Amino acid sequence: MSGLYIPIDTPDGSRTEHAENLLAPNPGMMTLDGTNTWVIGGEQCVVVDPGPDDEAHLLRVRDHLGDRNVTQILLTHGHVDHSGGARRFAELVGAPVRALDPAHRLGEEGLQDGDVVTVAGVELHVYGTPGHSFDSLCFWLAQDRAMLTGDTVLGRGTTVIAQDGGLGDYLRSLDRLRAAAEELEALALLPGHGPVLPDPLKALDGYIAHRRERLDQIRKAQAAGARTASEVVAIVYADVDRALWPVAEVSVRAQLDYLERL
Ligand SMILES: [Zn+2]
Repeated sequence: MSGLYIPIDTPDGSRTEHAENLLAPNPGMMTLDGTNTWVIGGEQCVVVDPGPDDEAHLLRVRDHLGDRNVTQILLTHGHVDHSGGARRFAELVGAPVRALDPAHRLGEEGLQDGDVVTVAGVELHVYGTPGHSFDSLCFWLAQDRAMLTGDTVLGRGTTVIAQDGGLGDYLRSLDRLRAAAEELEALALLPGHGPVLPDPLKALDGYIAHRRERLDQIRKAQAAGARTASEVVAIVYADVDRALWPVAEVSVRAQLDYLERL
């Protein structure tokens, strides 16, 4: 089997043989160390998630690539920390932007489940993985047996269900990723934020277990009398920094919606 996962440590984090990470300088509570801009391929390459609209970062990526030719820019989803710099980066390198959401495309071509993007002999297989956002995609880098997960799975902590996402979809997407990781014998997850995850099944099982646990906690909080999302947060997230409560509330609302529809 070709394309073993080769963890090569760089100042921007680990990489694999055909996937290199250039970290954007936007660290934060939601973005961890910053957004991972992934460069896939060789002399011809594809850039996944140019990151926020940060001129210094976009120029750094362009300069890093030197003479290499960017054939396409792909977005894992439309959130601004991934897509905000796409238009400007497209201008800098003269490449189209492909995304599930037409609002984020530049050029004719969309991007959806089942598409295969080929560059420099490596293939990216597109998986539709709605949940974190309605337009989330993951990309299977076949040659390195690595899955680019965007915000669907992060390198640390857990993903929030954004207002444009949904928990039912998210749980189905996690199950689908887990099945794919097992079937394809994935060696690494390459997330949109945080470090590379070298044990995909363990990471995905952890995510799935965490979601089930949270749902159980919410059912218990409801049984204890909590009615609104903020009441649930005050119980379930009692031991969590209050600065995170507004974010938790979005996630709790998604879970309440999900439980209501069961
Ligand atoms: Zn996001």
